[in-house]
Amino acid sequence: MRIAFIGLGNMGAPMAHNLLKAGHALTVFDVNAQAVGALAEAGAKAANSARDAVLECELVITMLPAAAHVRSVYLGEEGLLAALPDGAVAVDSSTIDPQTAREVAQVAAGRGIAMADAPVSGGTGGAQAGTLTFMVGATPELFNLIQPVLSDMGRNIVHCGEVGTGQVAKVCNNLLLGISMIGVAEAMALGDALGIDTKVLAGIINTSTGRCWSSDTYNPWPGIIETAPSSRGYTGGFGADLMLKDLGLATEAAKQVRQPVLLGALAQQLYQGMSQRGEGGKDFSGIIGLYRKP
Ligand code: NAD
Repeated sequence: MRIAFIGLGNMGAPMAHNLLKAGHALTVFDVNAQAVGALAEAGAKAANSARDAVLECELVITMLPAAAHVRSVYLGEEGLLAALPDGAVAVDSSTIDPQTAREVAQVAAGRGIAMADAPVSGGTGGAQAGTLTFMVGATPELFNLIQPVLSDMGRNIVHCGEVGTGQVAKVCNNLLLGISMIGVAEAMALGDALGIDTKVLAGIINTSTGRCWSSDTYNPWPGIIETAPSSRGYTGGFGADLMLKDLGLATEAAKQVRQPVLLGALAQQLYQGMSQRGEGGKDFSGIIGLYRKP
């Protein structure tokens, strides 16, 4: 397929590489010329703007930092929607609020362009390995069309419903993840303070009702899970600032429908404190610093 890929950052670059490996004809753009150069060396065609990138494509995929970037890349006279060929379709894989996803898709529909939101989970490791999960909001027809291409970058491609529901799924999952990590940190630190071996405690939790991903795969207590960021000084993994962004999306989306997110709001404040202490680049499981004796 002729694909335009825009946004070649930590996630977008490896995703674009996987599309090249799968044999697609790729045209790429990023405001960072170095990122474009690296993809061009691997066989992609370099474009000078998002508009130029999409001129001959059948599908455009965007992987941008936040909603403001998505709006500026898609909308307006200089936006790519104005330049997409008839019949082309668009997929935004950035993590943004569901409302913006729906608004941009509506403008696209006004131009006769079908658009999907398809945020991902799996992190940079999943992007490199091509094992991402895509949460897709799209019509059934559009989902069927893009599913094979998304499969070149991911392992689980899930149709969540109409446009916007991919972002809803992503926001709700990360809301729960942000909260559950704090819960596990609190329980592990209490167990330690009360005198139980933390490995024994983790073993009990992971075979009991407290078990969750934050406890059995990504435990915040160092040395429990050798592959978890907690066992390498909270480096790598999913930065607290990225978690803070996702919790901001959750609380903002909740406000729009007047739905209380009590623990989500508290979690947001706690990660904000981590960011304020200059630890926003550390893995979010470093939130255990709230509880551990120095
Ligand atoms: P990133 O900041 O590394 O990459 C974003 C890229 O977009 C950069 O290369 C930047 O130069 C480019 N860009 C910005 N404005 C642009 C414009 N106007 N035109 C063209 N390019 C532009 O971010 P990332 O880690 O790749 O994340 C991308 C998205 O995926 C975010 O929404 C993030 O929340 C989400 N996400 C990230 C992870 C992760 O682990 N990093 C996991 C899941 C989802």
